[in-house]
Amino acid sequence: MRKPFAAGNWKMNTDSKSSVELAGAIKEGAADIAGNQVDVALIPPFVYIPGVVSAVGGSQVAVGGQDVYFEKEGAFTGEISPAMLKDVGCSYVLCGHSERRHVLGESDEIVNKKLKASITGGLLPILCVGEKIEQREAEQTEQVVKQQLVKGLEGVSEDMAEAVTIAYEPVWAIGTGLTATKEQAQEVHAFIRSELAAIYSQETAENIRIQYGGSVKAANAAELMGQKDIDGVLVGGASLKADEFMGIIKGAF
Ligand code: PEP
Repeated sequence: MRKPFAAGNWKMNTDSKSSVELAGAIKEGAADIAGNQVDVALIPPFVYIPGVVSAVGGSQVAVGGQDVYFEKEGAFTGEISPAMLKDVGCSYVLCGHSERRHVLGESDEIVNKKLKASITGGLLPILCVGEKIEQREAEQTEQVVKQQLVKGLEGVSEDMAEAVTIAYEPVWAIGTGLTATKEQAQEVHAFIRSELAAIYSQETAENIRIQYGGSVKAANAAELMGQKDIDGVLVGGASLKADEFMGIIKGAF
């Protein structure tokens, strides 16, 4: 049985005060459910991670990084290692978010290195995959998602794969207010699970959680998560409002 998993990606938003307030409100709202009925993670900007970690302290609300570098340490100005994220209290990390792929030019090879370094470093990566609108219109969704999955998971053993969550995030639905219908999302999620079974085994594929992301809000979270292969949500904009994010979390069960 896969436990639902709701994660809030704050992107480049909040400040030192509002990040702590938002984290505190989620801690309070999710006190009885986080870790029991649903896993919850907050993914703030790097600089606000320590404040958020202390704001959720004593609860089951987890914290993650939005990105990570694949080297352990050294002369990599501006980068953050898996060990650094662990050191400040993160358990999750996003790998290959579409904004990193399409705005910052990250390749599948880089995403794969980051994913492997994260697992080796004791973090739980969320591997983001998804097609652009022109790829969907050209009926290339499965081809694109398959390539991102296969390349992203290259060299990741079956044992290691159990640490991974996949997030299916159609690029055309991220931050646009457009959401995939539950049928569109379920179709791709089922495809992802069949690809995971082909790469690993049916058993491992059944254990890996697949989140949906793309303009999720309280009003559509429950019907998306009601689909057989949708095990949770990765939320951007709507995770910046405590009430809205709590509504989403409650849609998971
Ligand atoms: C995201 O940042 O992963 C995301 C899905 O954003 P939004 O919910 O704003 O579309």
